[in-house]
Amino acid sequence: DIAPPATMFIFGASGDLTKRLLMPALYNLAVEKLLNAHFSVVGVDHIARSEQDYRDYLDSTVPGLIAGHSNAPEKIDSAAWSWLVERCGYVSGDFEDEDTYRRLADRIAAIAAADGHANAVFYLAVAPRFFGPVVDHLGKAGLLKETPDGFRRIVIEKPFGTDLTSAQALDAALLRDTTEKQIYRIDHFLGKETVQNVMALRFGNGIFEPIWNREYIDHVQITAAETVTVEARGRFYDATGALRDMVPNHMFQLLSMVAMEPPNSFDADAVRTEKAKVVEAIRRYSPEEALKWSVRGQYRAGDIDGRVVSDFTSEPDVSPDSTTETYVALKYMIDNWRWSGVPFYIRTGKALSVRRTEIAIQFKRAPSVLFRDTPTGTLEPNLLVIHVQPDEGISLRFAAKVPGRKVKLSKVDMDFRYSDYFRAEPSTGYETLIYDCLIGDATLFQRADNIEAGWAAVQSLIDATAGGHGDIHPYAAGSSGPEAADELIGRDGFSWLPLRGRI
Ligand code: NAP
Repeated sequence: DIAPPATMFIFGASGDLTKRLLMPALYNLAVEKLLNAHFSVVGVDHIARSEQDYRDYLDSTVPGLIAGHSNAPEKIDSAAWSWLVERCGYVSGDFEDEDTYRRLADRIAAIAAADGHANAVFYLAVAPRFFGPVVDHLGKAGLLKETPDGFRRIVIEKPFGTDLTSAQALDAALLRDTTEKQIYRIDHFLGKETVQNVMALRFGNGIFEPIWNREYIDHVQITAAETVTVEARGRFYDATGALRDMVPNHMFQLLSMVAMEPPNSFDADAVRTEKAKVVEAIRRYSPEEALKWSVRGQYRAGDIDGRVVSDFTSEPDVSPDSTTETYVALKYMIDNWRWSGVPFYIRTGKALSVRRTEIAIQFKRAPSVLFRDTPTGTLEPNLLVIHVQPDEGISLRFAAKVPGRKVKLSKVDMDFRYSDYFRAEPSTGYETLIYDCLIGDATLFQRADNIEAGWAAVQSLIDATAGGHGDIHPYAAGSSGPEAADELIGRDGFSWLPLRGRI
């Protein structure tokens, strides 16, 4: 279905996010003919240039980047690109200058007169310090008031604060002149097909949900491993670390997809309420417990598939005595009826041996009374792995009899890859999210309570490690992370799934 007419005002029109992801995503939506004939983009940025100059800038930078997201890089649909670029305008101005917002109001009025709608999406592709001021100015200029012919929506990207207090302050600033329904907080992980497919797997099939609980599930492991280092983002990352960057947002999104109760419908609030409930049920640790059930690591020099990497502390814009973690492993308990007693282990880090995001659900072992002669004396547990990226898919590990006269069991894997069954559309991960924002479907966006519940669950660890407290375990770049993380999960008698190889 074609999205309704709208103008997308992109604050940070000349920034990295806009050219690398937003414009390619809009192009892909144009190719799929999902944008309205009265859709337009207005870039807002402090570089002084004409509308034509902005279009020329887009023309010279974006098509090359689109190719990077395409299944067939050599084939750019030039008609779709021209269609989009013709609809791009520009307003130059400072985000903190009232005049900028008067010009935006004039632009909205002109579009209303010409196209008969006043629908506006304000996309804040800007540094987080501008979130509050831009929304404040939009509010003061009266641009956030919705009318029957004009919806007003704000899109922001993480980081949504740096701890519980700052997240609450940001939400208060965002909601001063708007309602929650106007705010679209993007977690681009949720644009990924497989994450949405977790809901399809759980609630679209009859066989999983009956065993999806403490009776049958032994424990859950959620991994987001990256091979990249901090690269050019040293300043941001040194002030942030793996915990803040990944856990209260991406990792808890994955956790809540796996652990939430079935919502009453796919209505945005029904889904987000169930997600918030499960994150709120994560056990709140004391600072001592938070330290006991976590391991923080920092990468040292190493080699990642032939790429030589130096110590985190010698990366550009990172303090030489930094105690910021580039890896974190955690154990959480979810104190509700379904999950009582089932540990959830989370690990995420940079400069690891592989790039992989997956959710592994380990089931309880079958009693081995019939198979006392298995080599270990116990049967291998069943394992269901949801591969989020790369090679999206699902695999199931189970026991099979090894052919021969003796009864001997071996583990085998049944492996489903989405690419074997479906042709994936070219995607940056932003298409679904931008389209959903245009049609007003907030299911995949986070509500204030989702964000704040995530921060509340990690706050005690943030407090316990403030000012450089707590151990930081070194690990070699290109390894699977610090050994202390193996000890963490080993204390409960488990081990992490190996990072190399599928499953
Ligand atoms: P960016 O490259 O710094 O882009 C921001 C743009 O806004 C720049 O063109 C900047 O101009 C301009 N600007 C700065 N201050 C201004 C002011 N006072 N008035 C008007 N214009 C001003 O930032 P980005 O990397 O695109 O990131 C934007 C947001 O997206 C951040 O919140 C980031 O965390 C998030 N994000 C980014 C990525 C990514 O891949 N880049 C991915 C996910 C999320 P100057 O260059 O002159 O400062």
